[in-house]
Amino acid sequence: MNHREHLIQLANKYGTPLYIYDSCKIQNQYRKMKKAFSEIKSLIINYACKANTNLNILKFFKKLGSGLDTVSIQEVELGLKAGFQPRKIIFTPNGVSIQEIKKAASFGVRITIDNLSILEQFGEYNPNYSVGIRINPHIMAGGHLKISVGHIDSKFGISYYQIPHMKRILKNTGLKIEGFHMHTGSDISNIKSFLEGVQVLLQIATDFPNLDYIDFGSGFKVPYTKNDIKTDLSTLSNSITDKFKVFCKTYGNQVTFIFEPGKFLVSESGYFLVHVNVIKHTTSTVFAGVDSGFNHFLRPMFYDAYHCIENISNPNGRFRFYTVVGYICESDTFGLNRKIQEIREGDILCIKNAGAYCFSMSSNYNSRYRPSEVMILNGKDFLIRKRETMQDLIRNIVEIDI
Ligand SMILES: *Cc1c(COP(=O)(O)O)cnc(C)c1O
Repeated sequence: MNHREHLIQLANKYGTPLYIYDSCKIQNQYRKMKKAFSEIKSLIINYACKANTNLNILKFFKKLGSGLDTVSIQEVELGLKAGFQPRKIIFTPNGVSIQEIKKAASFGVRITIDNLSILEQFGEYNPNYSVGIRINPHIMAGGHLKISVGHIDSKFGISYYQIPHMKRILKNTGLKIEGFHMHTGSDISNIKSFLEGVQVLLQIATDFPNLDYIDFGSGFKVPYTKNDIKTDLSTLSNSITDKFKVFCKTYGNQVTFIFEPGKFLVSESGYFLVHVNVIKHTTSTVFAGVDSGFNHFLRPMFYDAYHCIENISNPNGRFRFYTVVGYICESDTFGLNRKIQEIREGDILCIKNAGAYCFSMSSNYNSRYRPSEVMILNGKDFLIRKRETMQDLIRNIVEIDI
């Protein structure tokens, strides 16, 4: 059975719309990254789990030896539930309350603080709990303004111009810091800007003895089409590894090197299968209307993201032009004017790169159920999330007499 036939079989078995994750692909990506940076003595990869928070995906990463990057206290709790040791979890939130930071501290996880107000409050609360600092390196990187988070006007991180103020707070409170962190954006296609960030971070670190780690964030780009650019790990590794080794030597300490990729690790492992409900011809366009929408798969509408769409029911069909649309009652386009194997009502379409920021961004808009998720593990398929039902939609509704 080939790959397409296997996907069709899963669509028949579990129904559509359906997310499928291939754990082999996740493992390959994890190993690729480990290998590319294997010359760095103390390397840690923390999976940025907001990309895909299914508990089974987290457990799989734990098994691979990965740590976890989390951005909410709920993600921290999911990580603990998946069995991660607290020190293998790093909490890197933005704009959260001091209560949420305190709660993370009560779990014993690593904490990255990204503003001076909370730094001061936390320092007064518990100066013995070492924290990391998120630096804003003032770099424009990322594939879309919505996912560029390291530029000067971004809400993320503490500006490197504010280091003197930060030092004053550390002195006043007695708080120790254990690491520095940056994350400049997703889908970075230009290694140069990433390297500028690395340089900024290493420069700052020089001034702070006894650091445990430096966390260089993520933003690794994966290809969304055949000829799309991707982050070339060997080029990146060549430019960073030596720099880091030299840094450690002058610093006089073997500092742990952290990356926290989300998309790189899971994007390509995912397939989203949808059923074609209707083919509709208008004066200008042939629409293929499918049994899903941006409530399940937001990236095309939110980021103008391009995801490959293939008609796996008709792999040898003649290529024709279609606009693939969802059933949500407003503009809802998966792919505009795409060349796809001839589509018939009832066909199953496969949308690629569906492992990262797809299910995790889904909603119940239009009162639709969120889809089920399946994981392929050791050659077998496992249902890892049930499709929702009407019960799920009304679970928290409190009916009053009206
Ligand atoms: C989202 C996020 C990541 C992961 O970004 P990718 O582009 O998916 O690799 C890493 N670190 C932090 C702090 C994040 O918020």
